[in-house]
Amino acid sequence: MKVHLIRSKNYDIEDFNNVLNLLRKYRGSIEFVPSEPILMPESDQEEIYNTKKDFETKEPFPQMRLFSEEFEPKKEISFPHRRPTLSWDQLFEVCKKYRRDQLIDENDHIILMNDVPNDKNWFGCVDATMKNYFVQTNDWDWYFGNSIDDRFPVTYEIVSWLLRSMMFQKQNDIMNHVHEEPRGCMMDFCVDKTQIVLKMRTADLCPECLGILENRDAIRTHLRQLFDIMDGLRDNIMFRQRSHLLMRLSKMEIRGMSKTIYLTDLGDLQINLNPKERALYLLYLNHPEGIQRSYLIDYKTELRSYYAQISNQATNELIDQAINLLVDITDNNMNEVMARIRAKFKHAVGEEQAKDYSITFTPHGTHKILLNRELVEFVD
Ligand SMILES: [Zn+2]
Repeated sequence: MKVHLIRSKNYDIEDFNNVLNLLRKYRGSIEFVPSEPILMPESDQEEIYNTKKDFETKEPFPQMRLFSEEFEPKKEISFPHRRPTLSWDQLFEVCKKYRRDQLIDENDHIILMNDVPNDKNWFGCVDATMKNYFVQTNDWDWYFGNSIDDRFPVTYEIVSWLLRSMMFQKQNDIMNHVHEEPRGCMMDFCVDKTQIVLKMRTADLCPECLGILENRDAIRTHLRQLFDIMDGLRDNIMFRQRSHLLMRLSKMEIRGMSKTIYLTDLGDLQINLNPKERALYLLYLNHPEGIQRSYLIDYKTELRSYYAQISNQATNELIDQAINLLVDITDNNMNEVMARIRAKFKHAVGEEQAKDYSITFTPHGTHKILLNRELVEFVD
């Protein structure tokens, strides 16, 4: 079975790739296929959310009651909040058009990873064919703040909708089987969208829903792969949430000729350093004792060799230029590069843990990476 992942133009390619990596980590009979970015239709409508409660509430399928829960917003939005939206029809039409244009097999599934809010304020949905989906990529920081990387909820939504399409034959059947009272099951309806947090922590199906799958005679290899991804998500989220308490850091793998950096215990999270940042990072990684700013110039040859290997710079002059600037003590370039490295780790693992992974300034006047080098492995 093929699942095509198409992304709306403004959904960040690195985030998209991170989701793809996460899905592909668990091999099986489902093949996830990435696509080129898709231009989205223009929005011709706006939704107004008068209050925080409105914003956190899905527009109902009828007679769903609201749950109330104290909740601290994780990002700043002032209410009333107004923003352009797309209708579900418009979103599914993007999938249908892609299916027609690319001559996608009718049995394949297409998931639009979409950064434009939808008019009913859902995290995702499937159309009547049960083969076209959209999943929202925005707003997750509102619900999770920095505690969870966006990849996890997006991946969770993708897997959930695929599972639902295996559980049920029709869109309406899904709505008839959702749980109004949350039980930590993927089929909890979560009118109150903040409950997504609970659902993701358990990343599970209740016995009743497992029973439905049993009776549907869904393909077992597909199911196994989707449950593997779910289990992986839960482990990653738990690892992330407990790592501070348990003072556990993720293992780091530096892969291939490009020396790309992955945090393997965090769902193979890629740290997207550019070549210059990566070269500087590799240098400090290789010198656990740290390097004083004024002595950086002594390491120029080593730094240059990293940069020459991983950058796409065409000429030696350009390589020399970049490295000379980096080690020039009268220039701010090194500080800027280090700040960018720090910001990228912070984005990936949160502020507290970023201190261990990034290049930090120590009281002894040196810069160093604190991470225990036993956690670091180079893989060809
Ligand atoms: Zn259930």
